[in-house]
Amino acid sequence: ARDSLWRPRPDRGPRLVQRFTVDLTPPTLELRAATGYLKHAGAGVAVYRTTGASRSGVQVGTAFFPGVAGLAADPAVLVAFFAIPYDGPAVAPSALAEDEAGNQRLVSIPVTFLPTRFPKDVIRLTEPFLRRKIPELSPQTLGTAPLDQLVAAFLQVNGEGRKDAEAKIRAITRGETAAKPFWTGPFHQQPNSKVFANFPEERTYEVEGKTIDTAWHLGIDLASSKRTPIEAGNAGRVVFTGANGIYGNMVILDHGLGLFTLYGHMSEIGVKVGQEVKPREPLGRSGETGMAGGDHLHFGFLVRGVYVSPIEWWDPHWLRDRVAKPLADAGVALPGITDGVLAPASLPAAPVPARRAASRPRRR
Ligand SMILES: [Zn+2]
Repeated sequence: ARDSLWRPRPDRGPRLVQRFTVDLTPPTLELRAATGYLKHAGAGVAVYRTTGASRSGVQVGTAFFPGVAGLAADPAVLVAFFAIPYDGPAVAPSALAEDEAGNQRLVSIPVTFLPTRFPKDVIRLTEPFLRRKIPELSPQTLGTAPLDQLVAAFLQVNGEGRKDAEAKIRAITRGETAAKPFWTGPFHQQPNSKVFANFPEERTYEVEGKTIDTAWHLGIDLASSKRTPIEAGNAGRVVFTGANGIYGNMVILDHGLGLFTLYGHMSEIGVKVGQEVKPREPLGRSGETGMAGGDHLHFGFLVRGVYVSPIEWWDPHWLRDRVAKPLADAGVALPGITDGVLAPASLPAAPVPARRAASRPRRR
C-alpha cells in the first residue's frame, strides 16, 4: 500500500517546502520561594526560575505582575512583587511562564489568607465645603451656584473625575520601573502624623442627611500640622509631579521592582520628574488641594498599578517575614532588604541560658 501512495506522480510540478518549528514544549517553571501569608489588599513577593519563557510573572485573578531578572546570581531566576487587588475576590496567586508560541506553565503559590476587614466611613458634605471646593475641582461651576448644581458638580468630580485621576495613576504605576530596588528597609510614615482614614475604606457621601454617592478611599490620610514638609517614604525616583483632579497636587515615586508611592493634596511640590530622592527627602509641603476638607497628606502605595496597604510596608516585621525571608530563602540577596535575614551574625544573638537544663524541652 505504501508504494502506491508514495509513487511519484509526473504531473506534480514544483513544490514549495517551508520549514517551521512547532514548539510544543512549555517553558520550565519552578517556584523557589514566596510570601506564605497574604492579606486581601496586601502585597507579596515570589521568586521563581524559568527557562524558555518570553513572558513570566505572577497572575492574581486578571492582574499580572511581571518578574524581574538580574537580582539573583542565576539569570533564570526572577523576582515578582504582586498584590491581591482590593476590588476583586482574594484569589491565590500563581507563577506563570509563557513562551512565544503561547505555551503556558502555571504553578500555584501556596498561601494562607489572613482575615482582613475593610472599614467604612460616612463623609458629610457641608454646603460651605461644596461652595469652597467645587469651583476648584469643576471650574465651570461657581461657588455661588444653587446647592443642587454644586451637588451635581460634586457627583461629576467624584465619578468621572475620580475615574480619570485613577486611570492616570494606573498608567504611571504600570509604566516604567527600575529593575533594581531603590528602597531599603521599611517605608517611613510621615513624621508625627496621625492616621485618620484607612485603606481600602468604603466611603458613603451624604448631603443634608441623604446618601448621594459612594467611593473607595485608596490610600491613608495622614495629618500633622499645616503645610508640613512631606517626606519621601523611601529612596526612589520621581516619576510624576503635578495636578491630578481629586488628588490635587500629586507626586509619585518609583521605588523599583514595580513599587510606587503616591503623595496627594500637596500645597507645594519641590521635586522634578527624573530626580532621585533619598529616604525622608522633602518632596514639598502638605496642603488641601484637590478633594480635601483640610490640610493632610493622602499617601498611597501601589504595586504595578494595584493599590495595596501602606501599613504593611511601614512594618519592619512584615517586611522581614513576608518579603526579606522569601527572598533570602530563594538565595536573592538585596542590600538593605535581606541583609539581616541572610547574615545571621547581624541578628541579635539568641539568649543563652547560663546553665542549660539538660535537654529538657522548653514549652512556651
Ligand atoms: Zn485620602
